[in-house]
Amino acid sequence: MKSCILVINCGSSSLKFALIDPVSQQEVLSGLAEKLGMAGSQITFKHGPTPRRSFRQPGEKDVSPLEGGNHAAAMDAIIARLKDEDLLDSVKAVGHRVVHGGEVFKSTVVIDDSVLAEIEKCSKLAPLHNPANLLGIRTAMQQFADLPQVAVFDTSFHQTMPEHAYLYAVPMSLYREHGVRRYGFHGTSYRYITSKAAELLGKPLEETAFVCAHLGNGASATAIKGGKSVDTTMGLTPLEGSVMGTRSGDIDPGIIGYLGSELNLSVAGVMDVLNKKSGLLGLSELSSDCRELQEAASAGNEAAKLALDIFSYRLAKHIAALTVGLGRLDALLLTGGIGENSAYVRANVINRLGFLGLKLDDDANAACTRGKVGRITTEESLPALVISTDEEMMIAMDTAKLAGLAA
Ligand code: ADP
Repeated sequence: MKSCILVINCGSSSLKFALIDPVSQQEVLSGLAEKLGMAGSQITFKHGPTPRRSFRQPGEKDVSPLEGGNHAAAMDAIIARLKDEDLLDSVKAVGHRVVHGGEVFKSTVVIDDSVLAEIEKCSKLAPLHNPANLLGIRTAMQQFADLPQVAVFDTSFHQTMPEHAYLYAVPMSLYREHGVRRYGFHGTSYRYITSKAAELLGKPLEETAFVCAHLGNGASATAIKGGKSVDTTMGLTPLEGSVMGTRSGDIDPGIIGYLGSELNLSVAGVMDVLNKKSGLLGLSELSSDCRELQEAASAGNEAAKLALDIFSYRLAKHIAALTVGLGRLDALLLTGGIGENSAYVRANVINRLGFLGLKLDDDANAACTRGKVGRITTEESLPALVISTDEEMMIAMDTAKLAGLAA
């Protein structure tokens, strides 16, 4: 029997899971419970081994309504399925994604009561995410009471940033007393792709200097030197930085006060506009989805084209700015649904960065979609690499290590 890790990524209304064999690095079974706590909740199972992102492509999935419709019911359904397939005994540890670890968690940890209490304290920094992550942990602790449970934080990778990168120019008391600083996110993804890129380039990770962009519905970019984050675009929350699907990214903070008085909106009302109605969706007045905007742009929709141009220009600007923290650049790494699939956005970004030594290879760029990885710049150019991220695999590998399983 294999020794597997059950990876849980619990959101407020969804629960993603993956059963991973850390030795062969294969996904055995994965799934997604959706609309938890709402009408119409359902659970989807998919058999591996498959690359993570193909879960989102049409393929062999089996979907059924989820009776009970809450997180505990989702976990029950996962356990029942594991039992049915004779896989339950293969689960040797559970790894959890936790969004915010504040300044306390600088690496992955085995969960105990004090860790739970600290994650709870970090909830004020991520009120939409951490309570859901805790719910997933508590449910799994009940159902898998005898197994080690491990927490992997999105923020911990960025704890290596120097003060000059993570502090905002606001009164220091706000940092000391309220934790107001840049934390950064997507850390698990960055950790995964930088080690893959070092392998691909045949260089020790310690000797690399990368700017990496994780471009999904949320989008960020990070400067990583010797495998350590030295600067990143996201901040106290995942609202700062690049343009995203529905999030504005950087704006003049003065806009918040201005909109409050112009539109008589509360702070919560303004935040709702910036988090849910802005970004690609707000600019295009059409969709937050890059693929849909590309289709609309090629059919002549000017607003869709402008939204993608603003997305790409802002990202190129951030990539260039992040090189300041590195002092040099060995390669640009692109990942996430947009980074892995959108030749259009990649061209739009890289063609603005010729002065950094990046020159796109149009054919290689066009060929790099749907899980294909590789170099999309010419031989004489600095490398830009497309790398498929796999946060679940990273969580499984961390969990296997901390649970003392061979990986
Ligand atoms: P999440 O951040 O929710 O994990 P993903 O990493 O899956 O999201 O990225 C979703 C984004 O990737 C969407 O904007 C989607 O349109 C885009 N995307 C996925 N496939 C393609 C494609 N073939 N071409 C362009 N964009 C794509």
